[in-house]
Amino acid sequence: MKTISSLRLLLLHFLLVSTAVAGEGVTMKCSQTSCGFRSPVVFGGGMMVERIMGYCRGCKKFVDLCWGREGAPEELLKDAKLPPKPKPLGELWDAKTGAILNVYACPQCKGPFAEIRSPEQLTHCPDCNHDGFAVDESEPRMAID
Ligand SMILES: [Zn+2]
Ligand SMILES: [Zn+2]
Repeated sequence: MKTISSLRLLLLHFLLVSTAVAGEGVTMKCSQTSCGFRSPVVFGGGMMVERIMGYCRGCKKFVDLCWGREGAPEELLKDAKLPPKPKPLGELWDAKTGAILNVYACPQCKGPFAEIRSPEQLTHCPDCNHDGFAVDESEPRMAID
């Protein structure tokens, strides 16, 4: 499903030509050599597409939800076959940071996942739970527009 999602983003990239860059795809990796978990992660959406990303503990992988941005041309959105804007399951208050986390249903298992908005919010490895989860600078960054 991740492949389909990436393909969809790639397709949109070509369908919706624009010069502004709103999202970024990176490869993130765990600093623990005993763990070695790594995954492509895309932060943000694009000019025509809004996107929510998070880690599903049920599926043990990063998942995302995409929908057409309000104000985007109807024709383009119809061609891209984007679903309507998802409703959050609810929200959680993070007592340590004071952040409000929106919780959505995983597109695959329907279990809850919390929205991750930026690399700064993703500091711990989702596999071993150790800190030191960071962007692998040896891998190329991908612009999503
Ligand atoms: Zn899931
Ligand atoms: Zn790890």
